[in-house]
Amino acid sequence: MKVSVEQIIRPEIAQLHAYAVPDASGFVKLDAMENPYAWDDATQKAWLSDIARAQINRYPEPDPAKLKARIKSIFDVPEGFDIILGNGSDELIQILALTIAKPGAVIMAPEPTFVMYRMIATFSGLRFVGVPLKSDFSLDVEAMLAAIKKDSPALIYLAYPNNPTGNLFDRAAIEKILQTSSGLIVLDEAYSAFASDTFMSDLPRYDNLLVMRTLSKMGLAGLRLGFLAGAPMWLSEFNKIRLPYNINVLTQFSVEFALKHKAVFDKQTQQIQRDRQWLITELQQIPGLEVYSSEANFVLFRSPSGEATRIFTALKNARILIKNLSPQGGLLRDCLRVTVGTPQENRAFITALNSILQA
Ligand SMILES: *Cc1c(COP(=O)(O)O)cnc(C)c1O
Repeated sequence: MKVSVEQIIRPEIAQLHAYAVPDASGFVKLDAMENPYAWDDATQKAWLSDIARAQINRYPEPDPAKLKARIKSIFDVPEGFDIILGNGSDELIQILALTIAKPGAVIMAPEPTFVMYRMIATFSGLRFVGVPLKSDFSLDVEAMLAAIKKDSPALIYLAYPNNPTGNLFDRAAIEKILQTSSGLIVLDEAYSAFASDTFMSDLPRYDNLLVMRTLSKMGLAGLRLGFLAGAPMWLSEFNKIRLPYNINVLTQFSVEFALKHKAVFDKQTQQIQRDRQWLITELQQIPGLEVYSSEANFVLFRSPSGEATRIFTALKNARILIKNLSPQGGLLRDCLRVTVGTPQENRAFITALNSILQA
């Protein structure tokens, strides 16, 4: 029997491209918002002896209460609110989509933003509505309110700070959306370790607010742990969709260990914030670049018209990997995004960029 892809696969999936991750071995890796610092030898050793307790012949704890309590306390989840854990916040985005996926339901987000909102909405069979940001990457509140009225989204994502633009949206504008929308609003605070504001303490003020966090950008991207904080009335519904053993035992043990050493990450994130400022100042001194402010661990900049792909490729040939956003077009035309690395990596990037732009 001959079976064709078109016959079996949903057309909206056939049209998608899988999320592409370039091979970065041997590169100065400044493309994926990772923390560039490895643990020192003593911490590494302590971690290894700690996770040796893990019983990998057994299933992990399905809903690790002690770990969750620890996360709630460290990340200031307000009294009376709960969290669910995800295998990265990407999994939480998928759980949210599956939970609300009634026929015709809409997920909305301003764009450009984190691409997984649109991708996951699409493969969950939902309609995604993107509302363009203003040209300075601020929220277009009027357009958002009009779109909310027209499409009644079941869920709105606001990345705070936004990826790939790096800015925090205006707080008053977000509160207006929280007050106007009859759907859920997820504040995706993936970069909160580097940002000056959060909505975590606003949870008791809004029935429809959820706050999503991840440990990835703080320094644990390899562990895959995200969490969603909100009212138990919502979380108990999402929990039904969550696969019972979605957080493996090594991640559970490692996160517990890492949170005991939270001060190490705090020091690293403070260093990264200082180096972000250094990077911004250096980029601003290069003629022809427009540099955007950032509350995250990356910096977005606009190259001279038509130059982004040449710059990206020349950096790649110099073994420095950043993100070329120009192919996405629209507001991101000519834009490149660089993750803040170690001081040495940042210097290598600036030196290479200077010589490429002078060539
Ligand atoms: C990186 C990122 C995530 C995904 O984080 P994981 O927990 O690693 O899946 C979510 N939201 C935004 C805005 C991000 O930039």
